[in-house]
Amino acid sequence: MKIERDFPLKKLNSFGLNVKAKCFVELTSIEEAQTFIKSGKTEDRSLVLGGGSNLLFTRDFNGLIIKVNIGGIYVVKEDADYYWVKSGAGVVWHELVESCIKANFGGLENLSLIPGTVGAAPIQNIGAYGVEIKDSFEALEALNLETGEKKYFNNRDCCFGYRDSIFKNELRDKYLITNVLFKLTKNPIIKTHYGRISEMLEKAEIAEPTIRDVSEAIIKIRRSKLPDPDKFGNAGSFFKNPVVPIEQFNFIQKSFSDVPSFPQPEDRVKIPAAWLIEKCNLKGKIHKGAAVHTKQPLVLINHKNAKGTDILDLSKKIQQNVKNKFGIALESEVRII
Ligand SMILES: Cc1cc2nc3c(=O)[nH]c(=O)nc-3n(C[C@H](O)[C@H](O)[C@H](O)COP(=O)(O)OP(=O)(O)OC[C@H]3O[C@@H](n4cnc5c(N)ncnc54)[C@H](O)[C@@H]3O)c2cc1C
Repeated sequence: MKIERDFPLKKLNSFGLNVKAKCFVELTSIEEAQTFIKSGKTEDRSLVLGGGSNLLFTRDFNGLIIKVNIGGIYVVKEDADYYWVKSGAGVVWHELVESCIKANFGGLENLSLIPGTVGAAPIQNIGAYGVEIKDSFEALEALNLETGEKKYFNNRDCCFGYRDSIFKNELRDKYLITNVLFKLTKNPIIKTHYGRISEMLEKAEIAEPTIRDVSEAIIKIRRSKLPDPDKFGNAGSFFKNPVVPIEQFNFIQKSFSDVPSFPQPEDRVKIPAAWLIEKCNLKGKIHKGAAVHTKQPLVLINHKNAKGTDILDLSKKIQQNVKNKFGIALESEVRII
């Protein structure tokens, strides 16, 4: 394993930002990762990198980037109802989804085409179309970034929440995830209730969809509404959908009768951040090299040679506007570095 200096990160972040890392190393096996950490070569400031699709670099990274490239997808166990599938952290997420669909292992199909790697998926409990990784997650293996010691985390240990886990909170930057174990069903439960999935399936005259049909419908929907990072750098949804107390929602509804809402436990309501941004007339708004996507205002794009600070400034403007108009503080889903 070779430590490189002043390493360009442009191709390793989905915003396509032209930044460098002071030091960079790529690790391709658990043994290599453990040896590297134990050698004490990690810097005070180290960042584990997957596909770079949930990060906004606002400047050069003055530390060590550890790129995880641990591969392999294996069925490790099965019983009458389930398969347990273990995947290396460096596997591209959609490649894992594809191989499960091919084998008719149910559970991950609604998470089709989410960019990034398997190792990063538990960090923010990736979710889409009514499903989250926590629904099929069994356990993960990780290395302590200070000692190299191996530790296993089960579903409960990860404290999964809406785009959240223990790895975004008290264990942030403390562990390098090496592989993830999923429990997938032999009797797939088809979930088409969310978004436009059932509409797409009806259009295609598919009455009894398979997990492949669901995945294909979702891929079509995602391609039609999300910008391709190869054309316009982006990191998907920039903000989380805010969850507010019911009293605050009722107050907003008095002035905006069309406000969409999704009831949550404990008298709380989720409001789509995209709707709030659109109501502030910010759809398509350009700030220097950054812009709010015209089709999906929750996505900020690298419109033209943006700097990370252009995107950050635009995100702050949006937060200020939404705060002024609705009294809601939007929280960033993307990690700002
Ligand atoms: C077009 C687009 C659409 C998207 N749609 C969705 C969506 O529908 N749902 C959704 O939830 N997300 C979505 N995202 C966000 C993103 O795809 C996910 O957050 C993804 O899990 C990030 O994976 P990554 O490998 O790129 O992680 P990175 O961006 O490289 O890293 C993200 C975080 O995870 C940490 N990390 C990465 N790998 C490891 C590891 N092996 N061990 C420990 N820590 C690690 C990093 O340090 C960082 O804190 C979208 C992004 C884009 C660009």
